[in-house]
Amino acid sequence: MTLRPSVISRSSLRFMSKVLNAFSPDFSDLAPSEVIRRAERVEREWDFADCADTDVASPARFLNLRYGDGIFLCCRCSHENSLLHIQGPFPLRHLNCGQCDHILCGSCHSTEILTPASQADPSAASQRSDATDRLLRNCRVCPQCGLSHRTDARGDCALEICQCGCPVKLGSHYHIGSVEQWQRDPIASAQNLRDRRREELLDKAVKQHRRYGYIPS
Ligand SMILES: [Zn+2]
Ligand SMILES: [Zn+2]
Ligand SMILES: [Zn+2]
Repeated sequence: MTLRPSVISRSSLRFMSKVLNAFSPDFSDLAPSEVIRRAERVEREWDFADCADTDVASPARFLNLRYGDGIFLCCRCSHENSLLHIQGPFPLRHLNCGQCDHILCGSCHSTEILTPASQADPSAASQRSDATDRLLRNCRVCPQCGLSHRTDARGDCALEICQCGCPVKLGSHYHIGSVEQWQRDPIASAQNLRDRRREELLDKAVKQHRRYGYIPS
């Protein structure tokens, strides 16, 4: 694997605008929904052959799963929402739960494609050598409407204000991670996420029990 310097280290607002425009030349004239509709998928599509080295017994097990680039688990209703990385300024479209409309927040869990920036490994991000490393692989999620905005590694965005009027910088900052692990075994990745959520809820309940003497329902 050849190591190339990441574009992230050269980030500036002018450079970012150039990158964003390279993928959507006239995006500024279009509504975000139209930009999203026209944008192409960034990551390689999932192929059952990718799972050949796992203990997956049959492709039939996958029929009911929606194959995006990962999922986020809603902290409010536990619904599993499919994530899709697309080109352009709104890399993960709207991040509202499909069941209860909750906007992805710090308590929701997501697979590697949406890694909280505080947990991202900067060296892994700078070593990506596939074609997608030309894109800035970071975003902020608008806390008011759920629209994701592509940013540089520091969380700065070409657009300062979201379509809903909320300043983009108020949104939580995420690294757009690799889909490799997800594609290798989506079932195990989804299960890991559920286990993590269960452990955290249990941990919280134990702490509350210690503090208040009971476990809230
Ligand atoms: Zn939900
Ligand atoms: Zn949440
Ligand atoms: Zn917004």
